[in-house]
Amino acid sequence: MSIKKSILGFVFLITMAMSLKAQVKVGFEISFIEPQAHYAEIEMNISGVAAKNYVDVKMPVWTPGSYLVREFSKSVEGFGAEVSGKEVKSEKVSKNTWRVYNNKANSVKVKYRVYAFEISVRTAFIDASHAFLSSASIFMYPAGHLNAPSTLKINLWGNWNKISTGLEPVAGQANTFYAKDFDILFDSPIEVGTQDVFEFTASGVRHEVAMVGGGNYDKEKLKVDMAKIVEEGTKIFGVNPNKYYVFIVHNYNTGSGGLEHLNSTVLGASRNGYTNPARYKGFLDLVAHEYFHLWNVKRMRPVALGPFDYENENYTTNLWVSEGFTSYYENKLMLRAGHTKIEDFVNSLTGAIGTVMNTPGAKANSAAASSFDAWINGAYRPNENSRNTFVSYYAKGEVVGMLMDIEIAHATKGAKSLDDVMKAMYEKNMKEGKGYTDAEFKAMVEKIAGISFTDFWAKYVTGTHPIEFEKYFAMAGIKSVNNKAGQSIPTFGATVGRGVSGPASMAGAARVIVGGVTRGSGAWNGGVNVNDEIISIDGVAPEANIDRMSVISSKKVGDVVKVIVQRDGLRHELEVKLTANENVELRSSIMEDASELQKAVRNRWMGI
Ligand SMILES: [Zn+2]
Repeated sequence: MSIKKSILGFVFLITMAMSLKAQVKVGFEISFIEPQAHYAEIEMNISGVAAKNYVDVKMPVWTPGSYLVREFSKSVEGFGAEVSGKEVKSEKVSKNTWRVYNNKANSVKVKYRVYAFEISVRTAFIDASHAFLSSASIFMYPAGHLNAPSTLKINLWGNWNKISTGLEPVAGQANTFYAKDFDILFDSPIEVGTQDVFEFTASGVRHEVAMVGGGNYDKEKLKVDMAKIVEEGTKIFGVNPNKYYVFIVHNYNTGSGGLEHLNSTVLGASRNGYTNPARYKGFLDLVAHEYFHLWNVKRMRPVALGPFDYENENYTTNLWVSEGFTSYYENKLMLRAGHTKIEDFVNSLTGAIGTVMNTPGAKANSAAASSFDAWINGAYRPNENSRNTFVSYYAKGEVVGMLMDIEIAHATKGAKSLDDVMKAMYEKNMKEGKGYTDAEFKAMVEKIAGISFTDFWAKYVTGTHPIEFEKYFAMAGIKSVNNKAGQSIPTFGATVGRGVSGPASMAGAARVIVGGVTRGSGAWNGGVNVNDEIISIDGVAPEANIDRMSVISSKKVGDVVKVIVQRDGLRHELEVKLTANENVELRSSIMEDASELQKAVRNRWMGI
């Protein structure tokens, strides 16, 4: 037998196996019997399963885009199963797996209830006014059949009359939708209720905006402003791959945050913030961020991020690209859409550099390491020491994106930019039908720029080199200075908050409690602990900003202060030797006398 023949045979077997698996189909029906108590009832009809003794059904433990194991199965109750209308045995065999004894029947019906009362863009919430279904926290899947197609019938409740979702409607069947596989289902949030829906078309794509919870928004203004963002994003990639796109906007008293999906997004906003210029800009920033994700992470993505493993952490060292570059491009889209001015663009990026440089963790944690540990550290699982050990892959990635962009524009004398890398990577990933590796991404940057980025990677991606902001800004004709350079300002090295519990507060006095201690500072070396109550510094009662107290600001670096703290009911006297405050305060301005090369780099970088 020739190798060719055996490969053909192997391919045939795989095709057979795939076609057998593809016979599994799932029909969901969701009802809301007690929405006021935050419950959904789910019926799941699974057909085409193998004639074995049992079938396992599973609940995802996380939802893509939000890198934290959330254990959605904790909200499941009342699980039961039937075959041909008769109840059959089922049992829980792991934290998120139920085993249904179908006794060789090919079809089985599963029923369960889900409690949904967590307000966020990545968790489900149901009450008498509406239901927001973050699909990965509502729907189960038959083990081993993530590729199975499913339909979903939604039974409206009370006066609910609208459903907003990126899922494809099933023709001729009211309130019924289709997902070709579970990746699509889990990537399609669903809003059910009485939301205010309006539409606009941009870049040839119909866009639905579903406003939930009311608000002082101006629909006509939003249609124009959001369309500009869509068009600028589409210009970068040259293509907008969706036919229909849905913005589900949750308006709360104070809301924020967003979660990206293939052809939809969920945004949190403040109900009455639309008439406040800063809040409105913040909303458009969020629109730009989540919309950019439809290319960067939902399609052009690291290999680890799809197809997903819904039961475990999906590790990647590239969130600095997926999230950080998206934060960076938020700035570029806002500038190009005319929503911000050049000065705002430069100031925003200058601010991002300052944020990274003033994070002690940036000296210990690289962009790649920060990405990998998203599941256990940083924003999703912060602790009192996070600032010392972790740098945000959003902030660091935003800065790295900017440096890379300018470096490419400089190396090509203004002919290319990071835009060309993003477009080329998008096209490569779509053609290959898979995500990129670290090496492939770096190779594309080098191909577009025509120079090596090995040193850049070692400094800024896998390393913790200080940001050479003056050098990069200068390449683009921007002058940037650190107002604090050369100054020797003493710092205590701890952040504090006002404690409100305990006997002292009952007596009416707010206590000053240590919230964080900066690595290498006097407080760190002197043994000040988080949760210590500061009683006095050199005999003076503490204030909310320790460094601004004259007992600190009037001293010199190297001077020692006596600190009395109360810890677990006991008083301790500590000596804190003041260190120099190393925080930067950056200011940037556009060089009037920029050279032709600097202008060419700046124009390509900003793209205006
Ligand atoms: Zn994001």
